[in-house]
Amino acid sequence: MEKLVITAALVGALTTRQQNPNLPYAPQEIASAAIDAWKAGASMVHLHVREPETGVCVQNVEYFRETIERIRNACDLIINVTTGGAPGISLDGRVGIIPKLSADAAAKPEMASLNCGSLNFGLLSRKKRQFILDDVQMNPWSGMLRFADTMKECGVKPELEVYDSAMIHNAEVLQSLDALVEPLHFSFVMGVLGGIQTTVENLVFLKTSIPQTASWSVCAVGLPIYSVAPAAIAMGGHVRVGLEDCVHISQGVLASGSAQMVEKIARLAGEMGREVATPAEARKLLSL
Ligand code: ZN
Repeated sequence: MEKLVITAALVGALTTRQQNPNLPYAPQEIASAAIDAWKAGASMVHLHVREPETGVCVQNVEYFRETIERIRNACDLIINVTTGGAPGISLDGRVGIIPKLSADAAAKPEMASLNCGSLNFGLLSRKKRQFILDDVQMNPWSGMLRFADTMKECGVKPELEVYDSAMIHNAEVLQSLDALVEPLHFSFVMGVLGGIQTTVENLVFLKTSIPQTASWSVCAVGLPIYSVAPAAIAMGGHVRVGLEDCVHISQGVLASGSAQMVEKIARLAGEMGREVATPAEARKLLSL
């Protein structure tokens, strides 16, 4: 079986320091978390950036540039930036970072997330019977096409983010318009309120619904990642973990950082007899 690509999602848009004080905000903190994740076995990092003081999620080119340059000065991690951004950021703001960063070889990301559809997006307090975040992540057809065209023009490989099964078909529509370059890479995002639920059965369904030539990775909200990650490892998929997706390392225990989660996945893979890819090996596997 191919080696396992572990991606560390270090920051995200919604995680706060109230939930886990180890969340990095400033570019140097994010870069340092990336280097720790690389040492633990990650071959890719998925990046968002934050205002260093307040932690507010922004699509700020300069923060991305500084973070990426700091990471590249220390290691050869694959850089994957978000174009999902955060609730409230416009389509222009979300995709605008791609041509700007790509204009400079030192800051150009190799990959970027591309959300393959719109979905209800939220956070729910069942106790209060209240939606703490009540949002719709808007990705209209023309927007998705524009994101894909921009990435193709810039030579940035899309990570096709699939929050529910119909989004696989949406990606096929983009492909039929010649907006994607094969082989495709999918990222199944499970357990978002509004998206597909985190079960092994759903993961098998998603995996068997994509083209056979495509590669894929799974991530999930919260600790259920550790129930689907072994299935992904067994089926030849790849895995993403990190503070963007989950603040705990186990029930009731906060993670010391994304690196600790990467280490856990690497250990599981080792027990299962699947080797972990270096960044150089991951580049070949993902045709970067
Ligand atoms: Zn993200």
